[in-house]
Amino acid sequence: MLLRMTTLVLCEVSRINLNHTSTHNNYVIPMPRSLRIASLLILVTLTSVAQDRARLSVGTATAARGQKVTGAIEVPAGVDTALSIPVAVVHGAKPGPVLALVAGAHGTEYTSIIAVERLIGMLNPSEISGSVILVPLINIQSFEKKIAHVNPVDGKSMNRMYPGTMSGTQTDRASYLITKQVVEQCDHLVDMHGGDIDESLRPYSYWTKTGSERQDEISRAMVLAFGLDHIIISTERPKDPMASRYLENTATTRGKPSITVEAGHAGTVEEVDVNALVNGSLSVMRYLKMLPGAPSMVERPVWIEKVHSIASEQTGIFYPLVRKGMYVQEGMKVGYVTDYVGKTLYEARSPAAGVVLFIRAVPSMTKGETVANIGVVASEMTTPAK
Ligand SMILES: [Zn+2]
Repeated sequence: MLLRMTTLVLCEVSRINLNHTSTHNNYVIPMPRSLRIASLLILVTLTSVAQDRARLSVGTATAARGQKVTGAIEVPAGVDTALSIPVAVVHGAKPGPVLALVAGAHGTEYTSIIAVERLIGMLNPSEISGSVILVPLINIQSFEKKIAHVNPVDGKSMNRMYPGTMSGTQTDRASYLITKQVVEQCDHLVDMHGGDIDESLRPYSYWTKTGSERQDEISRAMVLAFGLDHIIISTERPKDPMASRYLENTATTRGKPSITVEAGHAGTVEEVDVNALVNGSLSVMRYLKMLPGAPSMVERPVWIEKVHSIASEQTGIFYPLVRKGMYVQEGMKVGYVTDYVGKTLYEARSPAAGVVLFIRAVPSMTKGETVANIGVVASEMTTPAK
């Protein structure tokens, strides 16, 4: 809207200038006239900003200031079927930043979905300075069919195909429209996950270190305000906005301080996990001054400098020997895999000392799948300064 109006005005100005140059029959008019045009330009630009901020549209949901409106991001059919992604726009009564809260890229990470559903109900636009774009469930087919990790329509993870393209499959098209409608319209984004059906996970978040001091300072404060006390320092994610792959990275590489959070496990919806995600979001809103009050910051987080993923070398029945959140030593047995008549085929050992961020929650195991993720606690050297 802003872009369109500004372009229109600029065209108008260049037309006037052009006419003026071609006719220049008067030397008295040029100054005041150009001033008039400049003031007109500023006025219209400001007005269009005000109009732009007066309404916020995401997909079919258009909210005026002080309104909460629901709708959908309509992904048209292409090489495969169409998808309608539900969205809520809470346009606060007072101006402020635009925060996107997104969940359900993995449709069976239930706590994250339920947390955003709860926030849609809770947030009151009359109390908010700024706006919140809430996307509770991107991967609807995964949710409905109870299929973990991927979009069953095209077999792709819905958190690996960003920034997306309209010429690809459903996941690519959905990713493209989320980039346009959600990422590009927000100032900050929180991507929520919840430990999938097959993951027994202890809550943690990701802080992406970009190297941009200002941006990293804000995202670091966001991740501390969110309140999960184990934080993975992410330095290896893509730097190229055109190949950002992950949702949070799509926002981060576009200069928007953003974080990823994860709480929940193995298909359960436990109050403690949902509360962690709901209260974390509200605390981030307080840090961003979108809600009154002070955020509650994690005082002494456990920073994780590296994550080791253990992949199973065999297909069979998995038996865990550790639980989520436990600390293990290098070489310690974390579980084993047997064939279907009890013979041990493979012993999974931790490649490093660290904390069990998640361990396989179900006995089904196929070769190459993840047994556990072990987080290595940051050393004195790699711990972010206070
Ligand atoms: Zn996930």
